[in-house]
Amino acid sequence: MSIVVKEVTKQYGSQWALDHVSFEIPKGQIVGFLGPNGAGKSTMMKIITSFIPPSSGSIEVNGLDISDNSMETRRVIGYLPEHNPLYLEMYVREYLSFIAGIYQLSNVRSKVEAMIERVGLGIEAHKKIGTLSKGYRQRIGLAQALIHDPQVLILDEPTSGLDPNQLIEIRGLIKEVGKEKTVMFSTHIMQEVEALCQRTIIINRGKLVQDGETQSLKQLGGQTILQLELDQIVNEKVLSQLPFVLKVNRITDFQWEVVAKGDEDIRIKMADWAASSPYRILTMNVKEQRLEDVFKDLTSAQS
Ligand code: ADP
Ligand code: MG
Repeated sequence: MSIVVKEVTKQYGSQWALDHVSFEIPKGQIVGFLGPNGAGKSTMMKIITSFIPPSSGSIEVNGLDISDNSMETRRVIGYLPEHNPLYLEMYVREYLSFIAGIYQLSNVRSKVEAMIERVGLGIEAHKKIGTLSKGYRQRIGLAQALIHDPQVLILDEPTSGLDPNQLIEIRGLIKEVGKEKTVMFSTHIMQEVEALCQRTIIINRGKLVQDGETQSLKQLGGQTILQLELDQIVNEKVLSQLPFVLKVNRITDFQWEVVAKGDEDIRIKMADWAASSPYRILTMNVKEQRLEDVFKDLTSAQS
């Protein structure tokens, strides 16, 4: 296991930012750490990276307890904080050399150049950090997190505030890095975990609410939605009375969403019904269950 989090709590005064959270992340996985704002994501990441101590509970990174081995564990972790404190007056190379110095790396020059290449900073590398766009600053943040070649990467909302093109580029980079490292990254955007990770851990108000395969999360919704277009006006009752139908949503008089329980494909039943009715089906397709809806369900229950 790369990261083992056991019963971690964090209290700020009377507030529980984390409430007995446990999970394990094996080597070489990209894990999405998902939760609404204020859920406790950054707090958990600061604890894993030894920036703040937990109120109780323990964390192991690569088999070492971080409270007894904070120097060793920091060396195997790369961390991109949510509000990455860059030195805006520094030049890109100067800053990365400075970070390499903190880790006491050898061959600093070649490592810095390799990093610039790796994260695609090339054409901007001669500039001052303060003059760069948000997307390039995030690349510097990633370079800073990767320069000591850590086995574990903790990225706190690495794509927030990026425009669509920058977003695609940074996601691509994370995916690339994830081939050889354990990556835990936080986000409040559902599509992000769908695009990037096999596994998703969801927290809400400091509590772990879900931990599993990203694909299987979608089935938690437990419903299939069929989008249906008929050749003539149909009364809602006609559809809602069908035995396999849970409920229907009207889009127009001709277009409906038919909701059924479970993940059964009800298209054949629908076609059979239509064949013995005055209605003809013009289009029919199963609507992809959105992780977003599942997420909403999971995180609104307690609020
Ligand atoms: P997230 O990253 O998921 O948005 P955070 O971990 O930043 O959530 O915050 C979790 C909760 O803890 C929030 O309610 C936040 O206001 C609170 N919190 C975070 N840091 C502090 C702090 N230093 N002092 C007091 N409360 C804090
Ligand atoms: Mg945060």
